[in-house]
Amino acid sequence: MNKIEHLGIAVKDLEAANTIYAKLFNQQPYKTEVVESEGVSTSFFKVGENKIELLEATNPDSAIAKFIEKKGEGIHHVAFDVEDIYAEMERLRKEGFTILNETPKKGADNKLVCFIHPKSTNGVLIELCQEIK
Ligand code: ZN
Repeated sequence: MNKIEHLGIAVKDLEAANTIYAKLFNQQPYKTEVVESEGVSTSFFKVGENKIELLEATNPDSAIAKFIEKKGEGIHHVAFDVEDIYAEMERLRKEGFTILNETPKKGADNKLVCFIHPKSTNGVLIELCQEIK
């Protein structure tokens, strides 16, 4: 695993959150993207070398909608950059982590992604992501 790729923050209203975070960072998001398969609308900010992803649910069955219902808005996941997501998934499965995806899927920001269940990581949802080249 390399660096933290981004932090994901669950928000109720992406447009309102974009306005707040644009003020906070003194810049506009560099990208907004809807990921239909995940039921989310996202925006990305670059803060120095770091990235922040804001996520709003696009439907009530979305994982983000359920998260906000249970816990309210806030940090939703920590994403780590990996060289080879298939190899990492294999390694972590053998180590006993619960991986939420059989195979990696296409996520936001041109990435292959998978998620590790927070039950196996002390309450933190972990995303692995590999840049699609
Ligand atoms: Zn993410």
